[in-house]
Amino acid sequence: MNLSEIINQLGENRSEYFNAVAPPIIKTSNFCFATVDQMRENIHKEFEVPFYTRGVNPTVTILRTKLAALEQTEDALITSSGCAAISASVFSALSAGDHAICVKNCYSWTNTLLNTLLKRFDVEVTMVDGTDVNNFRDALRPNTKLIYLESPTSFMMELQNIEAVAQLAKQHGITTILDNSYSTPLYQKPATLGIDIVVHSASKYLGGHSDLIAGVICSSKERIRTIFETEFLTFGGIITPDNAWLMLRGLRTLPLRLKHISESTAQIVQYLEHHPKVDKVLWPFAKDFPQLTLAKKQMKNAGGLYSFTLKTDQIPKVDAFCNALKYFLLACSWGGYESLVFPASVLYDSFNNNKVLPYNLIRMYVGLEEPEVLIADIEKALEEV
Ligand SMILES: *Cc1c(COP(=O)(O)O)cnc(C)c1O
Repeated sequence: MNLSEIINQLGENRSEYFNAVAPPIIKTSNFCFATVDQMRENIHKEFEVPFYTRGVNPTVTILRTKLAALEQTEDALITSSGCAAISASVFSALSAGDHAICVKNCYSWTNTLLNTLLKRFDVEVTMVDGTDVNNFRDALRPNTKLIYLESPTSFMMELQNIEAVAQLAKQHGITTILDNSYSTPLYQKPATLGIDIVVHSASKYLGGHSDLIAGVICSSKERIRTIFETEFLTFGGIITPDNAWLMLRGLRTLPLRLKHISESTAQIVQYLEHHPKVDKVLWPFAKDFPQLTLAKKQMKNAGGLYSFTLKTDQIPKVDAFCNALKYFLLACSWGGYESLVFPASVLYDSFNNNKVLPYNLIRMYVGLEEPEVLIADIEKALEEV
């Protein structure tokens, strides 16, 4: 199926809603039946039919169909946040007494889920440097049930060899989950490389306008049904029909947005690489990126998120650079119109002694503004260093 068919048509049964071009928001909590017999029959089909919006809602189902097709998996679930998608998926793979392996420098709340919350349920976790597949092999135990990946990681841009790790996991009957938020299904399709469950924070590119929080779980029909019937319905982390509609709207411009963003980012990264005040630039498609060969093998392109280190030994200089930026807004997250900046120096304060990231590391997200405007903005701000 081509991209146009997925975005324009898949899941959109327009004749059922007055041939409206844009999909409807079915804003209802429940669905009624004509007879007791019908209700009796449908109560056992919550996975397939609209019964109660915590399970299936028609607006959300359109998204579910499209996301599964984009990731080339059999089915998908849309959740209230990326974290809801991650926690439902992780819980589905683990029981008390199990062991999990997770890539280090993963998303912070994924780290909290695995290393704090799951500790209470007697799950042991080994964090590994994911750039070498042997580290996963070395961490294996007889009770390892989950390997959790995020490629690239969103601050340090470390890649994992997805196909090799998936193969290793399969040999040992271990479930693999990969957070694909950085790449979106347009730039990386982990399920085609053997990953069991692909998760997203749709709050980033999929929503695309900094106005919604949502998540996605993509997997086989069987796994999705199991997650639906256990974690999804009990945790209750569902997207609202309104937010599903916003995400459907965002999806329609995803290919265009990503194309513009990737082209702009390539230009900006190249500019930074040649700047005397810049030390290292981390972007998976940069010409000096240490894992460039792997990036080109498993990713179609890289998006608007990159990190770089400033040549300075002073946090106030890093702060002054960020304060001087006009178009790069100081904010977390990414994926919308507006370019953003998130300096690791934010994590350096009187409460925080766990300095995982270097203080002179700055993460930037390139949005949809003209690249020349953004380069000029950076150039001016670099005068502060
Ligand atoms: C933002 C983010 C998440 C969490 O998603 P939410 O939608 O904010 O819950 C998970 N993983 C990555 C890589 C992210 O960037």
